[in-house]
Amino acid sequence: MDNVKLYLGIDYGGNAVKVGLVDGFGQLAGRTSRPTAHLEDKVACRAFAAEIADYVHGMGVYSSELQGVGLAIPGIAKGEGFLTPNVRTDWPLLIDSLARALGKDGIAVINDANAAALGELWRGAGENLRSVLLMTIGSGIGAGLVVDGNVVSGGHGAAGEIGHMTVVPDGRLCKCGRKGCLERYASARGLVQTFQEASELPDLDRSCFSGIEPAHETDALAVFRAAGEEDPRALYAIADGADKLGFALAQAASVIDPAIILIGGGLSKGADFYMDSLRGAYRRYCFAACAATPIQCATLMGDAGVIGAARYAMLENPRDKRQRDWLDPDFGL
Ligand SMILES: [Zn+2]
Repeated sequence: MDNVKLYLGIDYGGNAVKVGLVDGFGQLAGRTSRPTAHLEDKVACRAFAAEIADYVHGMGVYSSELQGVGLAIPGIAKGEGFLTPNVRTDWPLLIDSLARALGKDGIAVINDANAAALGELWRGAGENLRSVLLMTIGSGIGAGLVVDGNVVSGGHGAAGEIGHMTVVPDGRLCKCGRKGCLERYASARGLVQTFQEASELPDLDRSCFSGIEPAHETDALAVFRAAGEEDPRALYAIADGADKLGFALAQAASVIDPAIILIGGGLSKGADFYMDSLRGAYRRYCFAACAATPIQCATLMGDAGVIGAARYAMLENPRDKRQRDWLDPDFGL
């Protein structure tokens, strides 16, 4: 590949590792993926790194042509420490192995939700903006946060943990050990639970219940199908989830004032059923100055993490940083 700046983005998720070559304009020049493995020792880390290097070389790219490598991880990267409860990988060992295999001095490491937010700002629904709050809603809720062009990770790496904002004091028990977190109501799991509990509500018309039942505890698509049949349990669950999500987003907006709020993750597949309710709830609860903030679906979907990791590598690249700081004040975001 001639005369094109290329970056490597690695999105190391809980279920799959996605790898992509991304050019300086944010276009994917190639991508591959494999199931997530727990890389706990030197042999496993080196084998993984060698596979990645083989992929890059197989695409006709020399390691020396790679401008930078970004790694998005499913957890917190803060200083030398890593906290990734769902993946047992020795991150320092993996980072060292990748750097050696790809002939780089360092790897730019970023939280996966923040990487997705950077990706959306670069090539997705937030293109040309400088601040975004990206909510990734699936079985749980994650959030990526970029404010004024800077990735925000906070004093403890926990910035953007909106899924654990309390929306119901003493409400449902959350995996974080507290009660009433947003995630327990507005995630796929939360919607399914509300749908099931709604069967017992006295004021819902049982004669309008559809025959649809969720197949498992995160089967929110069944709830959306039921909503399509005007099942009052589904309409109630979606209205309740949208109201609580709108409430939490309004509180977040009063602190960080994003230029746009994006909804990604598996639940965005049912956006037609809840986006209007969500926007209505947000406007009802938010500070007037933030009322016009658009709330839209993310557009890069599965590629956001790879593109964002590559973007982070670009922003962390010393040469690109110099260019950003001195030659072009708008370079970057
Ligand atoms: Zn929680």
